Amino acid sequence: MTNESWGHIREELISSVGKNNYTNWIEPLEFSDLEDGVAKFYVPTQFMGNWVSRNFGDKILNQLQKAGQDVARIEFSVPSTRRVRVEDAPKKTQAAAQPSRNDADLPGAPLDARFTFDTFVVGKPNELAHAAARRVAEGGTVTFNPLFLYGGVGLGKTHLMHAIAWELQKRSPGLRVVYLSAEQFMYRFVQALREKDMIAFKQLFRAVDVLMVDDVQFIAGKDATQEEFFHTFNALVDQNKQIIVSSDRAPNEIPGIEDRIVSRLQSGLVVDLHPTNYELRLGILQQKVEQYSNQFRDLEIQDGVLEFLAHRISTNVRVLEGALMRLFAFGALVGREITLELTQDCLADVLRASDRKITVEEIQRKVSDHYNIRLSDLIGPKRVRTFARPRQIAMFLSKQLTSRSLPEIGRRFGGRDHTTVMHGVRRIEELRAQDSQIAEDLELLRRSLEA
Ligand code: ADP
Ligand code: MG
Repeated sequence: MTNESWGHIREELISSVGKNNYTNWIEPLEFSDLEDGVAKFYVPTQFMGNWVSRNFGDKILNQLQKAGQDVARIEFSVPSTRRVRVEDAPKKTQAAAQPSRNDADLPGAPLDARFTFDTFVVGKPNELAHAAARRVAEGGTVTFNPLFLYGGVGLGKTHLMHAIAWELQKRSPGLRVVYLSAEQFMYRFVQALREKDMIAFKQLFRAVDVLMVDDVQFIAGKDATQEEFFHTFNALVDQNKQIIVSSDRAPNEIPGIEDRIVSRLQSGLVVDLHPTNYELRLGILQQKVEQYSNQFRDLEIQDGVLEFLAHRISTNVRVLEGALMRLFAFGALVGREITLELTQDCLADVLRASDRKITVEEIQRKVSDHYNIRLSDLIGPKRVRTFARPRQIAMFLSKQLTSRSLPEIGRRFGGRDHTTVMHGVRRIEELRAQDSQIAEDLELLRRSLEA
């Protein structure tokens, strides 16, 4: 087979994978050689290779065989010259993977095919963000502009943005939806400056229907970029075009960002993704198992393994996913059921890293700082409200964020009884639902402890 004949064969795939997938995933494959029944292809990135293999591997193989090629297996690899120049890889995928539109001029980055609403698991910590994203993805009248999504690393901001983009494009294929990171925005801007092509840059961004800028905190402190972003932003809002922005923190908490931009960012709907809870993590794991059950057909997972992971890996979803994938790969390799023991062996390092846990002492320090009281008063016997409330908050956080039992927590709070701790925890649970100041304090403390 030659590269040219591959060119003909692959075209047959358009009908079975769809034009989009074809452009995004099949076209960028570069035929390398065919030997001993193994057809080898070059891919721009390892991720892409895995993705294509997982999702289109069978179809490609079929098509090759149909075309009379003597192929039993296909392989994907990143050419070594390209592997050295890592920075080239994303550009290449980007050019190839421009979603849906033929409009090659659009400045966006590629969308990840896995990041759709279908694969997004909704739970308490992300339900508001999800609902807002859904609403925006329906298109139609722009109700909140911008939609500002924020939250810690790996909590699903990028996933939601891509999901919105996919959905919008599905509903109205002609819509010019542009997704890119703030870094890419800056890169484009600087490039335009260098090439003295600002007019084209402005036209490009003013012409989109929906603009999504991911990780906007990156433009903080970069004055010219901020300025340009501000103008782009205003121009689009004036035209009633939807803008969606994400950040790792709330608009007013981004240091080095101009006040007028903060107020612009706050002018629509600001929603945050809270740290995951156990139920959400378990839900995500179950969904992933389902999602990958085709690829790892014969893999058995012992009861309790997913629960164990959801308990023990609470850092972020990305780490959780990575752990599960590693476990799958390992299970497939050794060819036996994934037991709890195997899990502990295989993920020892990940588990140890998530064990580097918050201590009761840290919580006490943070809480007394936050309420501006002395540590000795927080732990001590005084029962006035100014000390008692922060004390209960610290107890509550200790119960939530450490694996200490109630008696153990009691001991660390000046030898209090476990019933006192339990009472404190319950009280804060009640207050959290009624008193938004307390809810906010808890969230703030939790974030800073988990950071
Ligand atoms: P962020 O942009 O907030 O850092 P990402 O959107 O990149 O996080 O999410 C990290 C990983 O976790 C992605 O693979 C994403 O699909 C997955 N993920 C996060 N939240 C969810 C969720 N609620 N349901 C399913 N997958 C999720
Ligand atoms: Mg992200």
